[in-house]
Amino acid sequence: MRCHVCGAPMQAMTTDLPFKVSDRTVVVLKTLPVLQCENCREILIEDSVMERVEMMLSQVSDDTELEVLRFAA
Ligand SMILES: [Zn+2]
Repeated sequence: MRCHVCGAPMQAMTTDLPFKVSDRTVVVLKTLPVLQCENCREILIEDSVMERVEMMLSQVSDDTELEVLRFAA
């Protein structure tokens, strides 16, 4: 897989990423598997991972300000 921004090879890795779910809710997903560009640090999340991310985000209550979840494969 190549970076859609600069065309450099992308490396599979895990990282921690914050997702803004609503105006006051932020969810941090830890150990998220992503592809990162070696050159420009652009991050790409694969569709199958994104589906699970959306499922996890949808389970977080709107009353929560900050939730930290571990992404278990
Ligand atoms: Zn790039």
